[in-house]
Amino acid sequence: MSAPAVELADQKPRTTHRPGAFGHARALVCRECGHEVELGPSYACPECFGPLEVGYDEEARARVTRAQIQAGPPNIWRYKALLPVPDDIESSPNTEPGFTRLLRADNLGRTLGIDTLWVKDDSTNPTNSFKDRVVACALSAARELGATTFACPSTGNLANAVAAAGARAGIKTVVFIPADLEKPKQVNSAVYTDSLVAVNGTYDDVNRLASEIAGEEEGWAFVNVNVRPFYAEGSKTLGFEIAEQLGWRLPDQVVIPVASGSQLTKVDKAFQELIKLGLVEEKPYKIFGAQATGCSPVSAAYKAGTDAIRPVKPDTIAKSLAIGNPADGIYVLDICRRSGGAVEDVTDDEVRQGILLLARNEGIFTETAGGTTVAVTKKLVETGQLDPTLETVVINTGMGLKTLDAIADQVGPAATIDPSYTAFSATGIGARD
Ligand SMILES: *Cc1c(COP(=O)(O)O)cnc(C)c1O
Ligand SMILES: [Zn+2]
Repeated sequence: MSAPAVELADQKPRTTHRPGAFGHARALVCRECGHEVELGPSYACPECFGPLEVGYDEEARARVTRAQIQAGPPNIWRYKALLPVPDDIESSPNTEPGFTRLLRADNLGRTLGIDTLWVKDDSTNPTNSFKDRVVACALSAARELGATTFACPSTGNLANAVAAAGARAGIKTVVFIPADLEKPKQVNSAVYTDSLVAVNGTYDDVNRLASEIAGEEEGWAFVNVNVRPFYAEGSKTLGFEIAEQLGWRLPDQVVIPVASGSQLTKVDKAFQELIKLGLVEEKPYKIFGAQATGCSPVSAAYKAGTDAIRPVKPDTIAKSLAIGNPADGIYVLDICRRSGGAVEDVTDDEVRQGILLLARNEGIFTETAGGTTVAVTKKLVETGQLDPTLETVVINTGMGLKTLDAIADQVGPAATIDPSYTAFSATGIGARD
């Protein structure tokens, strides 16, 4: 657990929520000790400070069928029966993310030496990252809890998603970012809200500030702080979609980027739920975590064979992964070890190469987080940690236009010429293979 979670007293729910406000969700359950608290803006166990997760009425969920899901809309609400959202969720304005493309990536597979490779491309979500999924679920919870302000500390993409969803929902929105964030990510928030706050400090400083504000102000829903259990459930939809798009079966291996570790943890939870509900056949699968070396506390602990994650001060171009004190890091270690996967990290140069690998092999422009995931996949093959004969899914969580600076020096015109055939001819570009 990170320190701020322990310091912040949980807010009392201010209103009793309407019946069915959280769908089949039953209570918040401590991941460590199983202690239960009522559904509300709480995230730390009052008994042991462990993280709270959404627990469900399993009898109600057991009735969910593939046909029911397939009859739903082409967005994350097709899985609403497996999320802490009301049955009428589609009638509330939201950004309706999800059901993004699962692309067969044969060119990249050939280049990396992987027989069967897929890219789950979350860059096409409404604000161009996987964060729209978690924010959509957090917004639903914020509404049902009667929150008056929708907020987050963010490494960039989360602020974009919160600001857009808040605008669409017509709720006051305040988003906090480290002041040194990439300009495009700042603009991508500021277009949606006049309350973007740049903080002089790292993400971990911004996060601490957010916890302090959440403890002081009334009615604030910080998506990844006091409504984090609801937020986190949104990441399950990535796992649900991968399984459904593969024809209701699980892949053998998945490579997932790690910032706080929430996404990786919840993709695993999604696979486990699908098995438990009989929606896919049970089978072994391996989960791999990807970090940038400049912020790799989880990878370092994995390699050291320990559970002790030492917080670091991030120094990497993969800013959306730059969380030095990852809240769910220990669960990432557990899942990757238990499943037979691994956690690996790559340098910023490899991250840039990863961006180009995906762009030039598959026509997908990813941001530095996706460059990290692709480069880690390459390294996992080269080091024999990932089995290239097994079906593998790589998750692309973000969009390259947000981190243009990372590769702006590496790519550009191959030639600048006068508008004449002779000049073009002289470049030799027409004669290239
Ligand atoms: C936030 C983010 C992640 C990682 O999310 P966690 O759940 O905190 O591990 C990965 N990729 C992108 C692009 C992100 O914005
Ligand atoms: Zn507990």
